[in-house]
Amino acid sequence: MDQEYDYIIAGAGAAGLSLAWGMLQSPLADKNVLIVDADLTPKNDKTWCFWHAGIPPFSDVIHKRWSTVEVRTPEEHFSQRVDEYLYYGLRSIDFQQKVLQALKAHDRFDLLENAVTDITVHPSEQSAILHTPDQVFQASYIFQSCFKPSGLEEADIRYPLKQHFMGWELTANREVFDPSACVLMDFDETFTEGVAFMYLLPWDATSGLLEYTVFSDRLLRSEAYQEKIALYLHNRFGLQRTDYLVSREERGVIPMQDRPFIPWYNSRSMNIGTRGGLTKPSTGYTFIRIQDQVRNIIEGLLSEGIPHVSPPSKLRFRAYDLWLLHILHTEPREALDIFYHLFRNNAMDDIFRFLNEDSTLAEDLKIMSSVPYRPFFRAIWKSRRRLRELQLAYTPSDRFPR
Ligand SMILES: Cc1cc2nc3c(=O)[nH]c(=O)nc-3n(C[C@H](O)[C@H](O)[C@H](O)COP(=O)(O)OP(=O)(O)OC[C@H]3O[C@@H](n4cnc5c(N)ncnc54)[C@H](O)[C@@H]3O)c2cc1C
Repeated sequence: MDQEYDYIIAGAGAAGLSLAWGMLQSPLADKNVLIVDADLTPKNDKTWCFWHAGIPPFSDVIHKRWSTVEVRTPEEHFSQRVDEYLYYGLRSIDFQQKVLQALKAHDRFDLLENAVTDITVHPSEQSAILHTPDQVFQASYIFQSCFKPSGLEEADIRYPLKQHFMGWELTANREVFDPSACVLMDFDETFTEGVAFMYLLPWDATSGLLEYTVFSDRLLRSEAYQEKIALYLHNRFGLQRTDYLVSREERGVIPMQDRPFIPWYNSRSMNIGTRGGLTKPSTGYTFIRIQDQVRNIIEGLLSEGIPHVSPPSKLRFRAYDLWLLHILHTEPREALDIFYHLFRNNAMDDIFRFLNEDSTLAEDLKIMSSVPYRPFFRAIWKSRRRLRELQLAYTPSDRFPR
């Protein structure tokens, strides 16, 4: 007979473990929950960063916080103190250790290290079934971050952009970094296939994580990212290859897509995290949006016994994302110019509020009027049908399993 749980979390990454942690902190802690992942060993392979007003999530294991944010172009250098939204860095290993330790200590939450091979619905439609190579488990709901949402075809994505990057965690033989300031974007104008920039998270004056990041369709060869990083260390800090030690490489590919919003994997399984479309298309940032999704799921389970679907972003924010994707995809030089004007003409707190989708329409208009408008007129015209398609792809009935 299948083993039964109240809920199953399939995939113990940022989304799965955030949800498990949220359940542990709520009255759902008395439910029986199974958390399954192919690999449950904590790893220092992702540095999740985000801006946040107030106390950040997982504040006790935040690795570093910055109150100054820098943006650099070949000609200019903008450095701003942030008052409302500090910028935080959380290492995946610290987050995983914290959550896994708490889960292991809780007798109603079980951890299973195994591959998930399929997620189906019970013929009664009253439960979902999780399949591993050798076992089958049932639960009233499964929250999954393992599989692409069913029904999502590549052809559904008009602008298949990716944020791809490789970074070095390094220690230099002398003090070169300003530990109080992270560098959000130091643009590389020599890159023409998309928008590329360096991203620097200094841990202290000698060590930090430096990533070469690109918004484009096509990934680069590993050596291309490495050459860019070595060149940057030389040109900006005067460091030769013998002046620093690289202790770790971090790489990633994050979708920046105008994909339709597909909340349900099947009638009893919800898509969470990146698979749930939580990544903000124009920035790639996901971690904070995952925390909002967790809140909605738990609220729904507690109030109605059905997980609440996080509504997709308001239409106007989806439109801004779509227009920027269009410009990044078709006119990357114009996109660079937009970024320059954005950072030159606005306070960082206002930009973060806008990217968080917490801004008012008046604040949006102020930001929009600070950047070149011609590329936006073209984007608005060229992507008008797409916006309508994306709007129609989500109906209020998606809030409930079909
Ligand atoms: C290197 C990197 C850095 C990032 N940095 C940031 C950042 O700074 N800020 C930000 O907001 N976002 C960032 N992101 C984007 C996003 O926040 C992360 O990708 C985040 O990890 C997404 O969480 P998730 O749970 O959806 O996916 P994941 O964290 O990838 O979790 C999915 C889990 O499912 C498991 N799994 C998958 N398939 C199976 C299967 N068949 N069987 C069993 N287990 C399976 C995997 O082992 C994994 O543990 C980053 C992404 C990467 C790759």
